[in-house]
Amino acid sequence: MTGFAKASVRDADVDGKRVLVRGDLNVPLEDGKITDDARIRAVLPTLELLRERGAATLVCSHLGRPEGKDPALSLRPVADRLGELLGAEFPLAPGLVGDEVATVAETLGSGDVLMLENSRFEPGETKNDPELAKGLAALADLYVNDAFGSSHRAHATTEGVAHELPACAGLLLERELSELGRVRDDPKRPLVIVLGGAKVSDKVGVIDRFLGFAEEILIGGAMCFSVFKAEGRDTGDSLVEDEGVEAAKRVLADAERSDTLLELPEDLVLGRELSPKTQVQELNGVDVPEGWMGLDIGANTAANYAKRIARAGTVFWNGPMGAFELDPFAAGTRRVAEAVAEAPGHTVVGGGDSGAALAEFGLADRVDWLSTGGGASLEFVEGRKLPGLEAIPDA
Ligand code: ADP
Ligand code: MG
Repeated sequence: MTGFAKASVRDADVDGKRVLVRGDLNVPLEDGKITDDARIRAVLPTLELLRERGAATLVCSHLGRPEGKDPALSLRPVADRLGELLGAEFPLAPGLVGDEVATVAETLGSGDVLMLENSRFEPGETKNDPELAKGLAALADLYVNDAFGSSHRAHATTEGVAHELPACAGLLLERELSELGRVRDDPKRPLVIVLGGAKVSDKVGVIDRFLGFAEEILIGGAMCFSVFKAEGRDTGDSLVEDEGVEAAKRVLADAERSDTLLELPEDLVLGRELSPKTQVQELNGVDVPEGWMGLDIGANTAANYAKRIARAGTVFWNGPMGAFELDPFAAGTRRVAEAVAEAPGHTVVGGGDSGAALAEFGLADRVDWLSTGGGASLEFVEGRKLPGLEAIPDA
């Protein structure tokens, strides 16, 4: 079993109650315009359920990393977009907590919604200040955490407030726990983990967790060069992370002793520099010459990984296979993304850049689950305790 048994908003009696929902509405903004509203859409099912059931709903979230009350990071555009999507008035409160906010909250009726202002305008948010948590709790009767992507942080709106009110999981959070929980605890076999991206040190915990548990771990992206370096190979000018090399040495030794296949690239695409116009060369092998950087896995590696993904019972993918943002180095990530999209097994993708790659290739809705949490999804599958989740009582 997946071990998921958190109190759920489905079972909560919310009619006539004021409900505080923590969303992860930290959307990308350019010149005050939202460039991707996926995180806003992701929280809609919970808000719709609460409205249908007669709650008055207050929504809170952080946005960016403001220093003080930076108007450029107001949640106004998020409230406007939420309003459009819900077909409802979605006013913005003058802050996160306090008398003025409470006065507005008290006027809300059944089915009404109110956006609270950026939680990081309050210095107490990231400090998990108990006074701030109490201030939030004073606004509502019930707390719903629907911010999986923020649940690895012990902040006032993710953790502190959950101890001050009856707390439960929202629908998005519930889905995240069930999809990632299946990967972590009860995967259909064989389980194939695909890891890429830039930093080994971010992902070494995932390798540790799955060595001896997964059938196969396929490594691509820049992180493979820390592993190659640990094997004593030439890595040229490839991105190598010094602390990653030490971790990779340990991982290689652990892999020797485990039944898990740790698969590394057999060929590469090289460039002179990280630029779309750079000179490009295919390398049949992995010893990168001086003056070159490994920027993508090669075609044979991609075909091998695609074959393994196709026969997996479960695939968990985190991190692109190369510098996919640049056309000459996108093929490996594209091939892996297509393989994951076509795979008959249970497919789960975590990670901001892997999700962006899937979206760019038009494949985002072809996987079983695209997690809304990057760091949080990694910590969850590693088996670490996420403070925001720990604070929600079991069902
Ligand atoms: P995710 O957000 O999916 O967890 P990461 O943030 O770990 O992924 O890494 C994504 C970044 O890694 C991308 O910007 C990509 O360009 C970069 N990257 C992948 N492979 C390489 C490589 N071989 N050399 C340099 N950068 C790479
Ligand atoms: Mg990233």
